[in-house]
Amino acid sequence: MSDASFSRRLLAWYGRHGRKTLPWKRPRDPYRIWVSEIMLQQTQVATVIPYFKRFMARFPQVRSLARARLDEVLHHWTGLGYYARARNLHCAARRITKEYGGSFPRDFETVADFPGIGRSTAGAILALAFGSHHPILDGNVKRVLARYHAIETPINQRETEARLWMLAKRHMPRARVADYTQAIMDLGATVCTRAKPQCTLCPLRKTCRAFQLGTPQDFPVRAAKQKTPVKTTRMLMIHDARGRVLLQRRPPVGLWGGLWGFPECTNGDARRWCHQYLGIEIETDSPWPTRRHSFSHYRLDITPIPARLVGGTPQAMENAETVWYNVRRPVRRGFSAPVKHLLEQLRASRSIREDT
Ligand code: SF4
Repeated sequence: MSDASFSRRLLAWYGRHGRKTLPWKRPRDPYRIWVSEIMLQQTQVATVIPYFKRFMARFPQVRSLARARLDEVLHHWTGLGYYARARNLHCAARRITKEYGGSFPRDFETVADFPGIGRSTAGAILALAFGSHHPILDGNVKRVLARYHAIETPINQRETEARLWMLAKRHMPRARVADYTQAIMDLGATVCTRAKPQCTLCPLRKTCRAFQLGTPQDFPVRAAKQKTPVKTTRMLMIHDARGRVLLQRRPPVGLWGGLWGFPECTNGDARRWCHQYLGIEIETDSPWPTRRHSFSHYRLDITPIPARLVGGTPQAMENAETVWYNVRRPVRRGFSAPVKHLLEQLRASRSIREDT
């Protein structure tokens, strides 16, 4: 199949089967496409849709996002994970407002330079929003191309990546770039899927090398996987006499950066740790069952420990990084998924009584 035939077949398939009703498709505007592309990094479409709608209802334009407090942006991201994405969006929105008067730039180098936007995302935004001639290479596209060409070198190798970029560029049509970009992403998401590619429905099957070999699932080839490390932490759910729990804001960068969470004491005696690092005395209860949270490079085993503050609540502790939080009257803050879940469990439990 010539490259023109590749794109022609894909576009014809897109006309019949493409996902044209996704909420970021209409109106087609670079801000909406940018937000959707960032949300779709590492997250499935079905999960993204309700988050996207709520995000757009609250931050309909790049200026409203730029004006918002980071805490509120993180609140709207709670549950989506990979919170650096939200921090980067917020930071880039401020730059776009300040340096470009709120208009999304059309220049590839400028867009690719914004935090959280790499080469593929910049290409996707410009291709989808303006029809600009830039290839993309997200996970779906990599899989389609790796199978179509039966690429036998590991997908994460630099040489493989360079070859895939070359192929992505070569297959692009001259016209209808936005539709083609959406088409190849849709094909990877709905037909050439990771677990069960539906080759009989695929417009590329006649010339797909992996299909001809009868081994689509052998591609993309992955380097031998190393064992995923497991880390551990203990979250101290300390409540005071009024039933409020102690929360701390995490440092702005790193894991769950800028989100609110429980004080964490990874090992040793929790009471001594609180005395030494928080200047408070506590009594601990039996730990709750350990739960596992998975990240891309490691697993985190979290053991929640309920604890009671001994003595009065030191008001001097309340500041921009520390609050006594009323779980029954929640206010908008950004939480990681495990902390959000623990707060919901605390709210439902009888161990914390109503604020008086
Ligand atoms: S024929 Fe099968 S393996 Fe090849 S691109 Fe289509 S769905 Fe993927």
